Amino acid sequence: MKKYAIVGASKRGLSIKRKIEHEEVGEVCCFIDNNSKKQGLIFDGIPIISMDEIVSGYSDLDEIIVAIIDHTPLLDQINEKGIKTPISVVTPMFILYPGQTPFKDCCALRSNDKPAFSYIEYHIADHCNLKCKGCGHLSNVVEEKFGDYELYKKDLLRLKELFWNITKIRLLGGEPLLNPELEKFIIISREMFPASDIRVVTNGLLIPSANENLFKTMRRNAVTFDISLYPTTQKVMERIELKCTQYDVLFNVSGLITKFSKSKKGDYFNSDPQNVFKTCINRKCHLLYNGEIALCPGPILRKRFEGILCNKPWFEEDIINIYDEDLDGNKLNELFSGPNRFCTICGPSESFDWEPGYTEII
Ligand code: SF4
Ligand code: SF4
Repeated sequence: MKKYAIVGASKRGLSIKRKIEHEEVGEVCCFIDNNSKKQGLIFDGIPIISMDEIVSGYSDLDEIIVAIIDHTPLLDQINEKGIKTPISVVTPMFILYPGQTPFKDCCALRSNDKPAFSYIEYHIADHCNLKCKGCGHLSNVVEEKFGDYELYKKDLLRLKELFWNITKIRLLGGEPLLNPELEKFIIISREMFPASDIRVVTNGLLIPSANENLFKTMRRNAVTFDISLYPTTQKVMERIELKCTQYDVLFNVSGLITKFSKSKKGDYFNSDPQNVFKTCINRKCHLLYNGEIALCPGPILRKRFEGILCNKPWFEEDIINIYDEDLDGNKLNELFSGPNRFCTICGPSESFDWEPGYTEII
C-alpha cells in the first residue's frame, strides 16, 4: 500500500486524505504545514509536521501530495530541502469539483528534471465579434483567422519537453467562441497539461447560443470561462449564468469595463526598462504563436500585423523560437524574468471610453 504525506493541513488536504482512505489506494502518514502553530497537532488522526521533519523522519514515503493551489513556493521549498520523494500537485479537476472527482484524477505528478512555466496565452481566433476601440490584441482590425490546431498541438508538445507544467493557459483572441474547433484546443491543452489552470477568455456574447458539447467538454476537462464584462455583455449576463450553471461550468466575471487604455509604443525611449517592466501588468502575458513566444503580446502582434500597423517598430530578438536547440525551460524562464528590448519603447498608457464596433487602428 502506498504511503503518502499531504502538504496543507486544511479542508483541501483533508479532502484528499479522505479520498485516499475511502478508495483504499494508500495510507496517509502525516500532513506537512508551514504554519508553526499547527505543527505538533493531530489532524484527523495523524500528525502535522514541518518540512524539516519530513527530511529527518519519513524516508519511506512513496509520494508527497501538495494540496495547495498556489503550489510554486512549496515546490521551491521542497527542492531547497533536497527531498527526493515523488511530488504531485492537486489538479483543477479536484480543485473545482472535489466531491465528484475520483482520486486518480485528483493529482498530477511533477517531473523532477524540468521547471514549470507560469503562463501562456494563445489566439483561438484573431478576430472578434465586439471590435472594441483600441483592442490590445488588434482583434477589431485584423482579418478573420482561426488558430491552427495542428501547430498549437505541436507547440504544446515542445513546451511539454521544456516544462512539466504551465501554471495557467488562457485560450483567447479575439473571441475564442467564434472558432468551431475550440473544443479540440481545450482537449489537447488538458491532455498535455493536467495540472494547468485552463481558461477560455471571452466577451461572453456567444455563450448563451453555444453548442452544449462545448460546455460538456469544458466541464469534463475542468476548464473555466474568464468573462470580460462589457456593457454589451452585461445585457446577457443572466443568460450566461443560466447556461454555465446548467452545465456546471464555472466562470469568473471581471468588473464592468467602461474604459480602455492603450500604451503608445515607438514614440518613446525608456532609459530604465527594468523599472517599466516591474510595474507592467502585461509582463506575464506570454503570447504563443506558431512556434514562437514573447514576453508580452506586443512583439509577436507587431510582427504578425506589420502591414496593418504600418511597420511600427518591434525587435526580432524579443521573439523566442521555442524549437531552438539551445533553449531549455530554465533558460526561457530566465529570459522572461526581466525586460525585453521592446520595453525600451513602451510608453505610458492613455485612457479612453470603451466603444464597440470600432474598426480603425488608434
Ligand atoms: S472583446 Fe474587445 S478587447 Fe476583447 S478581444 Fe474582442 S475586441 Fe478585443
Ligand atoms: S514591452 Fe515590456 S513594458 Fe511593454 S507591455 Fe511588454 S512587458 Fe510591458
